[in-house]
Amino acid sequence: MLLEQKIYLNGEFVKKEDAKISVYDHGFLYGDGVFEGIRAYNGNVFKLKEHIERLYESAKSILLDIGMTQEEMCECVLETVRQNHLKNAYIRLVVSRGTGDLGLDPRRCSKPNIVIIAEQLALFPKELYETGIRIITVPTRRNTPDALNPKIKSLNYLNNVLVKIEANNAGVNEALMLNQQGYICEGSGDNIFIVKRGMIYTPPAYLGALEGITRNTIIEIAREKGYVVKEEPFTRHDVFVADEIFLTGTAAEVIPVIEVDARQIGDGKPGAVTHELLAAFRERVETDGMKVYECSGVEKR
Ligand code: PMP
Repeated sequence: MLLEQKIYLNGEFVKKEDAKISVYDHGFLYGDGVFEGIRAYNGNVFKLKEHIERLYESAKSILLDIGMTQEEMCECVLETVRQNHLKNAYIRLVVSRGTGDLGLDPRRCSKPNIVIIAEQLALFPKELYETGIRIITVPTRRNTPDALNPKIKSLNYLNNVLVKIEANNAGVNEALMLNQQGYICEGSGDNIFIVKRGMIYTPPAYLGALEGITRNTIIEIAREKGYVVKEEPFTRHDVFVADEIFLTGTAAEVIPVIEVDARQIGDGKPGAVTHELLAAFRERVETDGMKVYECSGVEKR
C-alpha cells in the first residue's frame, strides 16, 4: 500500500495536493525567506540542531521572526519525518516572510509561512558516487557578502539556479562559482574540497561560500583521521592540478569529481582520500543525529 505524503504547513499536516500557499506570499513574490535542506539516515536526523541554528541565524539576519523556538522547530521536523513513516529522508524546511500584498514592505506580512517536506531524494544517480562527476567553472559569480551574504541561506537562489543551467547547457553534472576576486567559491548547492600531496583544502567561508554543515563534518572526520585540512583560498589552476576533488552538501552528500573544465583530475577515477572520507561519512550519518522515533521528550511509537 502506498503511504500518502504529509506536508507540514503552518502547524498542520496536509496532503501534498492541499499544501498550498497564497500567490501573495513574499517568498514567492520576492524570494523573501530562508530555508534549510536536512537529511535523515536510518531514523536519525543528521545535525538537526546545526541546521535549525543556521535557519534561525539566517532568519535573524533578515529580521524574520519564525514565531517558535528552535526546540519546537526541531520537533516539527522530527514529526514530519514520523508522519511520513520515513527512516531515510531529504527534508526541506522553508520559512517565508508570509502572505502580504504586492508591495515589498515586509510589515504587510503578518506571520511567516512555514513548510516542511520530507521525502526520498537522491541528487545524483548512485553510480556517480563510484565513478565521479564532471564539472565546469562558470562565469556566474557568487553573491558578494556585502550585497547578499551567502551565510544567509535565503530563498534568493537565482545565481545558484543560473549555475545549474550553465552546467546543464555544458552537459556536465555540476558547476563551480568563483567569487568576485576569482577564487574558487563553491558549487550551485555544495562546497568543494581538493586534495594535493595528501593535504586537504577547502575555501574559507569568508570568501563567500555557505558554511556547509557537511563541509564542517568532513573537516572534522578528516582531522580525526590525521589529515591536515586547510581553509585556504585557491584558484582554478589549483583545482585543475589537484590530485583529488570532491563536493559536499546535504543533498549531494560526498561526491567525487573526476573532471573540471575538460581537465582530468588525478587518474580520472575517484581517489583514495575521497573514498576514505566518503566511507567514513556514510558510517557517521548512520548512527549520529537526532533520533526520529525515540527522541527523549518525544512521544515514542
Ligand atoms: N553551498 C550552497 C550554496 C548550498 O546551498 C548548500 C546546501 N545547503 C551547501 C553549500 C552545502 O551545505 P550543507 O552541507 O549544509 O548542506
